Amino acid sequence: MSEPKTTAPVKKAGRGKYELDERLKSYKGVWVFIEHERGDVHPVSWELLGEGRKLADQLGVTLSGVVLGPQDLATRRFCEEAFFHGADSCYLIEDPILSAYRNQPFTKGLTDLVNTYQPEILLLGATAQGRDLAGSVATTLQTGLTADCTDLTIDMENRSMAASRPTFGGSLLCTILTLNYRPQMATVRPRVMAMPDRDLSRSGTITPHPLTMIETDILTKVLEYIPDNQQDKPQLAFADIIVAGGRGMKKAENFQLIWDLALVLGAEVGASRPVVQANWVELERQVGQSGKTVRPKLYIAAGISGAVQHRVGMEDSDVIIAINSDHNAPIFEFATYGIVGNAMTILPALTAAFKQQLAVSRMAG
Ligand SMILES: Cc1cc2nc3c(=O)[nH]c(=O)nc-3n(C[C@H](O)[C@H](O)[C@H](O)COP(=O)(O)OP(=O)(O)OC[C@H]3O[C@@H](n4cnc5c(N)ncnc54)[C@H](O)[C@@H]3O)c2cc1C
Repeated sequence: MSEPKTTAPVKKAGRGKYELDERLKSYKGVWVFIEHERGDVHPVSWELLGEGRKLADQLGVTLSGVVLGPQDLATRRFCEEAFFHGADSCYLIEDPILSAYRNQPFTKGLTDLVNTYQPEILLLGATAQGRDLAGSVATTLQTGLTADCTDLTIDMENRSMAASRPTFGGSLLCTILTLNYRPQMATVRPRVMAMPDRDLSRSGTITPHPLTMIETDILTKVLEYIPDNQQDKPQLAFADIIVAGGRGMKKAENFQLIWDLALVLGAEVGASRPVVQANWVELERQVGQSGKTVRPKLYIAAGISGAVQHRVGMEDSDVIIAINSDHNAPIFEFATYGIVGNAMTILPALTAAFKQQLAVSRMAG
């Protein structure tokens, strides 16, 4: 492990206010790690740039993308895309060693960049790659990392990022400030933050940086690329419409009513945890704290009570329609529209009505 470069004692200047050590004051700017695989950037990187833009504007600093990849046109194009999505500048390391993600060279590249240019905030997606990289970068730099955040703001009094995330099994929300260390690191799951508009008129500066590592330094080798052949697995996180069912659907056979409505609407099927635990649907369909975070235009929830662990995964949907037989169900507190009644009769009625209406619209246009 390298020497801790970002650690410094902090003087308490008053109740609730901390004075940042002089050495840490040189850390300036908000960075977003641009995650990509085989030529495609993960959309969470653009979502984080949208959020990073707000943090940078509040702090009055620049927003930068960080791109690590092989020396080719695609890698440079990712910097341009970062500008289109809100970045003012981009730090770029190009090296053949970086053609596929491996923890060692990416950790080395990113920590070298941080130690050289000293950002105060570094954001990564809470994806398989982002989680792997964030953990090793934070431990190498010996700084604080708040994982799976649902909200990021700036505490101006302490000039620190206030990173909120669910805790105690999702029953509480805690806000964590990294006061004594820089950079302040956070990961955010896909679809938690809104996608910013793509502005083609934006441009920025690219700062190239070398990778001080050679292939023989790296313990892992990529022998073969095996594509994910489960292309048909649910793409819940990016669905525009989701029809989700909960324990109120009573039994596995009734869940077919959820599939029927989803088919008519061209929607994905989602579920609450008890439904997954009962094996009515596969784990990939679970929405919530220990499942997927979704942000569809329309979320129809049938027989779902609206427990906080489910709510955190879907409350940012544009429109939520809740169908529940109990008018006191918590889901009605945050649903856009509520239908009090038996899902077993309401779902088939909705399916029939949508089928008819959509057929009419198709004929008309
Ligand atoms: C650490 C932890 C993580 C968790 N992660 C998740 C997660 O990721 N996702 C998740 O969903 N849960 C999660 N949970 C579980 C969560 O706390 C709830 O238990 C769960 O969301 C409840 O699911 P439900 O709404 O389907 O069931 P219930 O809470 O049992 O609600 C069923 C609802 O159906 C209604 N109903 C009954 N009959 C009908 C009918 N005929 N027509 C219409 N409505 C009817 C009832 O009024 C009730 O509101 C987690 C819990 C813990 C502790």
